[in-house]
Amino acid sequence: LKDKYPQTSRSVIEHISNSFESNVVKKVGKLELERIERRKKQAEFKAEKVELTKRNADNPHWELHQMIHDYCKNLNYKPLTINDVIEDRLITVCVRKRPLNKSENAKKEVDVITVPSKNQIIVHEPKTKVDLTKYLENHLFKFDYTFNEHCDNEIVYKYTAQPLIRTVFEGGFATCFAYGQTGSGKTYTMSGDIFRTNAHKGIYAMAATDVFRLVASPKYRHLNLIVTCSFFEIYSRKVLDLLNRKGDLKILEDGKQQVQVVGLTEKVVSSVNEVLELINHGNMARTSGQTSANENSSRSHAVFQIYLRPAKKFNSLHGKFSLIDLAGNERGADTLSSTKTTRMEGGEINKSLLALKECIRALGRKGAHLPFRLSKLTQVLRDSFIGANSKTCMIAMVSPGVSSCENTLNTLRYADRVKELGGGELQHL
Ligand code: ADP
Ligand code: MG
Repeated sequence: LKDKYPQTSRSVIEHISNSFESNVVKKVGKLELERIERRKKQAEFKAEKVELTKRNADNPHWELHQMIHDYCKNLNYKPLTINDVIEDRLITVCVRKRPLNKSENAKKEVDVITVPSKNQIIVHEPKTKVDLTKYLENHLFKFDYTFNEHCDNEIVYKYTAQPLIRTVFEGGFATCFAYGQTGSGKTYTMSGDIFRTNAHKGIYAMAATDVFRLVASPKYRHLNLIVTCSFFEIYSRKVLDLLNRKGDLKILEDGKQQVQVVGLTEKVVSSVNEVLELINHGNMARTSGQTSANENSSRSHAVFQIYLRPAKKFNSLHGKFSLIDLAGNERGADTLSSTKTTRMEGGEINKSLLALKECIRALGRKGAHLPFRLSKLTQVLRDSFIGANSKTCMIAMVSPGVSSCENTLNTLRYADRVKELGGGELQHL
């Protein structure tokens, strides 16, 4: 320093070099301290991980569980309540998440779905980097309403099918679809808990209750309307009458493109109990001769219809409500399936669900081409897609478990595209 700064006095130089040295010492000391601190933290982290592994030795998914927990810690939850605003829309698309069931809980299956608000849903998809570190890909979607696992059938009904009842009384056509993979809760939502009589009423019964109430109300009593119901299923291009021993029904289209299901049983009903009886009867017919409730019924669309007909002119139709429990949308397994029948069924279901999406989208674009002939399902519902007063609602059901993650993402992407202006998957968080 003396050579560099010959003008500077020795004492000043000594002072500078001392403080310089002490700065270096300080820095080195600081670095050392930081290193010790870091090592301590790493050791703690390791110990915590070992501890967690020990504690969760019986849960192979604890790491995923922890990641989701950490992610959700910072979310601001604002779920749907019974008092939220019901918006009037031509096409409503919602999602319902069912709770984990007993066997999923027993397997310690991880719940990978979060419903943070009344119209948002997040799928936490587990991923692995090339270096084998695990991470989450969080997919955020927005719909008209999102129902979490605590929502019961009543609240789901209030925001989905109930607002459509008015359309039917005003002489229109309403449709409500339950869409999703097998086991996601379609039948539970539409029919109720069918294996426990009258427990947890479904949308069919709740809609019927409202219809009877309104038929007798001061506002509509003068119309003198008769209520009738039909219940059929579409299985592999066949239309089967669930109220008449699964009789095979023909579909006819006249010159004016009017579609008719020939010979379909239409029962006059005058009370909710009568409707419940029909639903039970139909559901029994659907599942009879099968070893599990989902065996064939998951591969068919069930169509329950409520008609309003003027008593004085019984052949004409005032309004119609179609409630549809769609076939399971999971198809991956079918393409690998060994039997030709299941492969064909899978193809047929896929085709009808794609046609359905196009028809609903066309409903939202007045005057658009309606490709209803693409499938039996859209053919029998043709009148519901063309009317000036037609409204529709789709409830996409999702299973919460990590093993359903891929199907869940497919379901949400489909539901998003049903909306003409679907927001798309909003972002990867
Ligand atoms: P899907 O018709 O879509 O194949 P299900 O309606 O049969 O599915 O539901 C599968 C199982 O999950 C049934 O045992 C049903 O009772 C149960 N489940 C479905 N949704 C719910 C729910 N929201 N709350 C409680 N249990 C449900
Ligand atoms: Mg079902």
